[in-house]
Amino acid sequence: MFEYAPAPESRDIVDIKPSYGLFVNGEFVDGGGPGLKTVNPATEEPLAEVATATSDDVDRAVQAARKAFGVWSALPGAERAKYLFRIARIIQERARELAVLESLDNGKPIRESRDVDLPLVAAHFFYYAGWADKLRYAGFGDNPRPLGVAGQVIPWNFPLLMLAWKIAPALACGNTVVLKPAETTPLTALAFAEICQQADLPPGVVNIVTGAGDTGAAVVAHPDVDKVAFTGSTEVGRVIARTVAGTNKKLTLELGGKAANIVFEDAPIDQAVEGIVNGIFFNQGHVCCAGSRLLVQESIQEELLDSLRRRMATLRVGDPLDKNTDIGAINSAEQLAKIRDLSAAGESEGAERWSPACELPQRGFWFPPTLFTGVAQSHRIAREEIFGPVLSVLTFRTPAEAVEKANNTPYGLSAGVWTEKGSRILWMADRLRAGVVWANTFNKFDPASPFGGYKESGYGREGGKIGLEAYLDV
Ligand code: ADP
Repeated sequence: MFEYAPAPESRDIVDIKPSYGLFVNGEFVDGGGPGLKTVNPATEEPLAEVATATSDDVDRAVQAARKAFGVWSALPGAERAKYLFRIARIIQERARELAVLESLDNGKPIRESRDVDLPLVAAHFFYYAGWADKLRYAGFGDNPRPLGVAGQVIPWNFPLLMLAWKIAPALACGNTVVLKPAETTPLTALAFAEICQQADLPPGVVNIVTGAGDTGAAVVAHPDVDKVAFTGSTEVGRVIARTVAGTNKKLTLELGGKAANIVFEDAPIDQAVEGIVNGIFFNQGHVCCAGSRLLVQESIQEELLDSLRRRMATLRVGDPLDKNTDIGAINSAEQLAKIRDLSAAGESEGAERWSPACELPQRGFWFPPTLFTGVAQSHRIAREEIFGPVLSVLTFRTPAEAVEKANNTPYGLSAGVWTEKGSRILWMADRLRAGVVWANTFNKFDPASPFGGYKESGYGREGGKIGLEAYLDV
């Protein structure tokens, strides 16, 4: 092991304003609710004050989107594509600034916001820009029509990437949007509003309303919203499904997960260990498709766990803006409390807890990379989504047992399989009830590849050609 010198990314590239309004009809306007402060979770320092949208503000945003829908949906697809390409290019040009802003507001390591989030955000806009003039070849009929106004509510774990997943396909199909970012991470969505201005996007095509859950609820319930897209907790997803039930609104939900990452005895151990680490410690484990349950074949348990502990001891936790940081800050005090609570339950239910020695900063919200062994299926840490850097280890003897345990969860968003045998990968993929199955890798994303869940992980797919379906009248 060797020491790393500090390698901080400069924050001078971002110019955070003291306060931000709502983005409605192409302009920043005041919100009727009390302002909310967004803080840097690594330091607890306030970054900016952001407006909150009341239901009247949401109504104005929906009206702006409705008015813009006429113009936007009437544009030829090739014209809409030009705007989306322009937005993608501006995102690339401003990528460093946006990455720093994301890391400041969210707490994720700059290495990830710079190398994962931002490239994927741009790629998503490029991908759907390519579809805008080819919708009639997408398999949804000769002249697929947009739905109208999309109300979109997104979480705080990948703020700008979730915005891209929502806005790019909606716009490509000719819809207009009212999007609500999460209350703890509004800043990159507001920077995106500036990008819409920079790209000369017609006013009202994109509207951003900031605020907490009640603002989200007002977007979802608005009678003039035709389509609701939500990413977040299963709990809120249920509330939204109830609100939308019995209306004409179309709904897609991308909710929680408790993915099994399954390692067979013939897997290459070192690669598997990298995949396990990436699966659960990427983005502090704030990932709905995180590989939070490690299922390891009993015969290699000791060898694998030894390697994993050695690897975990090399993870660097700390300043998100340091380019060598592997694990940044937990996004909020509330989330930290939830991770602590579930980890305490793991111990009290009898699992064995281990973390490498690591010094956590004094201020801010932090949690060390944590491993639980001796976990039983019935333990809360095997069943509930922790949404933090906490891995629960279970074992299995046969492939059938691995499938049984992997599927024994109310969720079904993703899974991982590690084995040398191609036939076993296919056999497993056939039986795993999960929207995405990664083989000998984990957490790989591509705009061309659909993403979404089984069971309580939600319904509908985002990404790829099938991702257009959610935004078309098919
Ligand atoms: P997380 O576990 O990611 O914090 P939440 O589901 O609480 O998940 O939050 C995801 C998004 O949903 C956030 O933007 C939040 O403000 C919003 N939200 C929370 N409650 C509601 C609600 N009742 N209706 C609509 N949106 C909501």
